[in-house]
This record gives sequence, structure tokens and C-alpha cells, in this order.
Amino acid sequence: MPRLDYYDEVEIEDFEYDEDEEIYFYPCPCGDQFQITLSDLAAGEEEVTCPSCSLVIKVIYDKEVYRIKQEEFEKKNNKKEIATQQV
Ligand SMILES: [Zn+2]
Repeated sequence: MPRLDYYDEVEIEDFEYDEDEEIYFYPCPCGDQFQITLSDLAAGEEEVTCPSCSLVIKVIYDKEVYRIKQEEFEKKNNKKEIATQQV
């Protein structure tokens, strides 16, 4: 496997987070934005490609933290589903 050349390596703290969509944004020099979702992070994804140009950045984050976050989120969703079914 050839190693990708990352345009940059960015800490997740430097991303902007949209709580409603659960997506992290980071501005691309082309004017568009890199986007990575919470589930991508929980799945261990660390490469983000800009939808407009072909630049790829690497996200620096603690994978274990996001895996736990995702599990908590799924638990919450399951509870919601159960609640809906009972109605
Ligand atoms: Zn771009």
C-alpha cells in the first residue's frame, strides 16, 4: 500500500463541531471544508478528503475516546427507539 501524502495533520480540537449533525469541519484552502463525522472517528477513520479538491488531511485524535463516545451515543439512541416502540 502506498502511503498517502497528507496536505496537513490537524488536531480534532482545531475542527469546528456541529452538534446537531455530529460533523467536524475544517476549512480547506480551496474554500470548501473537510468534513468528518463522529461515527467516522469512532470507526477509527483518520483521513479526510476535501469534497471539492483532492487534498487529504490526517486527523489527530484519541481513538479510544471517540469509540466510547459512540457507544454512549448508540446506547442513548437504543433507549429512544425502545421508548418509541412502546408508544
Ligand atoms: Zn479543498
